[in-house]
Amino acid sequence: MRVGIPRTLSYFTFYPLWKPFFETLGAEVIVSPESNKELLDDGVRNTVTDACVPIKLFHGHVAALIDKVDILFMPRLVSLDGKSTLCPKFLGLPDMVKYSIAGLPEIIENRLDLKKGKMELYRFLYGIGRRFTANRLKIMHAIYRAKYNFANYRKLLFKGLTPVEAFACLEGGQEPSVQLIDGALKLAVVGYPYNLYDNFISIGLLTKLRRYGVQVVTPEMVPDKEMKRLSKKLRKNLFWYYSNQVVWAAIYYLEDKNLDGIIHLTAFGCGPDSMTNKIIELECKAKKVPFITVSIDEHTGEAGVETRVEAFVDLIKRKKGMV
Ligand code: SF4
Repeated sequence: MRVGIPRTLSYFTFYPLWKPFFETLGAEVIVSPESNKELLDDGVRNTVTDACVPIKLFHGHVAALIDKVDILFMPRLVSLDGKSTLCPKFLGLPDMVKYSIAGLPEIIENRLDLKKGKMELYRFLYGIGRRFTANRLKIMHAIYRAKYNFANYRKLLFKGLTPVEAFACLEGGQEPSVQLIDGALKLAVVGYPYNLYDNFISIGLLTKLRRYGVQVVTPEMVPDKEMKRLSKKLRKNLFWYYSNQVVWAAIYYLEDKNLDGIIHLTAFGCGPDSMTNKIIELECKAKKVPFITVSIDEHTGEAGVETRVEAFVDLIKRKKGMV
């Protein structure tokens, strides 16, 4: 059985959980190609026009998998922390895709809602496992391997690796290496993982910053216990899981005296980000930390992003007397 996983949205959060799970069940995991212009154009053609760019891109990834897999993995992710929910577009994703793209194979669209209790992840995975085998022990083994791999993945993120670097470490068995540049600028780049770590959609933002000699930190590198502490700091949290992660991460990095600035990468047309962005902007203003918003959509050009980010880095360097 070939299981197709689109290389976007929850891929950057959960791929190290899904992959060993399906492989232990005896399935072959096929991931869609890295994002590119053709996938996005295909997604734009297949989606409603007012969707944000990550959702349009998701449709392109699904379309790219249609002829290559027997079953598509597109779970309905509702709550990942037992408190907040994902944005409405995530909740309705399987329906959006089913009614937009013709000729889809069978879909695994089980619902994951951790608001229902601590055993919910087991119930979710067990329910999926039953589609592949009736052997209870085999499913339990797949769940164990998946959780073990996922725990190792999270440890790599906390060491300062990006998800894509951590995937490579886990697959190649290499030792993680994070290159810290002495005296370099330290910038927090905050945003949703499917925007930050997708080189096409972010127009290579993280790579560009590292090329300018910047030490980059992101929300996925913030330890869980710090996220938990910061979740109690605001008078009221947002309703959406990924938005809260972004706000808490920004506040966490603002506590760091060595932080030189924050870049918020946001997708044009993202409802939750209209609030996320304002909160981060106000927090930065209160701490007098330089802040910039980089907004992306399907028409964003590389030169425009490069010019803005380069100017932002230059201004901070000038302020610090580095140039
Ligand atoms: S949070 Fe924003 S960018 Fe992400 S899927 Fe929802 S609307 Fe799109």
